[in-house]
Amino acid sequence: MKRLHNALLLKQLLILKQLGFKYTHTTPSKLQDEQAELPNDMKALKILVDHCQLCELSKSRQKSVFGEGNTNADIMFIGEEPSATEDSTGRPFVGRSGDMLTKMIENVLHISRANVYITNVLKCKSLDSKISVSAEIVTCKPYILKQIELIKPKIIVTLGISALRILTDNQDSLESVRGHEIKYNDSIIIPTYHPIYLLRNPSAKKEALEDLLRVKELLSS
Ligand code: URA
Repeated sequence: MKRLHNALLLKQLLILKQLGFKYTHTTPSKLQDEQAELPNDMKALKILVDHCQLCELSKSRQKSVFGEGNTNADIMFIGEEPSATEDSTGRPFVGRSGDMLTKMIENVLHISRANVYITNVLKCKSLDSKISVSAEIVTCKPYILKQIELIKPKIIVTLGISALRILTDNQDSLESVRGHEIKYNDSIIIPTYHPIYLLRNPSAKKEALEDLLRVKELLSS
């Protein structure tokens, strides 16, 4: 897979840069093409993510957080990155933000949490909770792209602006794109607020409800 190959190459260049190299004519490490392929199988992909050491976050994480739920789901929820509770449990969206997400799924969409797929764009907790760590995004992005490719969801709900920007490069504000349908290969992305934002700004729940009702309508169409 070209993207993973490029990510590994970028990692190699970043290491050389950290060692003080300004210019390099390095040839890529003897990475065989088959090593650069991500598996077309969720279990094998999870094993790869669990053992991933492509970026610095692998050194500080307790557990990587691959994602969970129905791998044949029509709907995927994609957040930003694990926080402390997810890092210690290895599960996405547990704790308060997880309770909020579960309520959004079960009370509005009337689907059980186990019947959707939930994951994040970054699989490991960042040290300073700033998602714009570009090297980490480059190395981690192939995993979320592969998960989407394997699950083939009808709808992807991105939670918060970072998930949307990482997947689509869309630079609009979340306020202006939330609830809109964004074509994404064979899926439709509906961006909405992150559950953590909703916990801090309860007045935005009304808009998140509208976004989810749009999702419900699309699911039944
Ligand atoms: N927990 C997650 O799993 N993802 C987030 O984006 C925030 C908290």
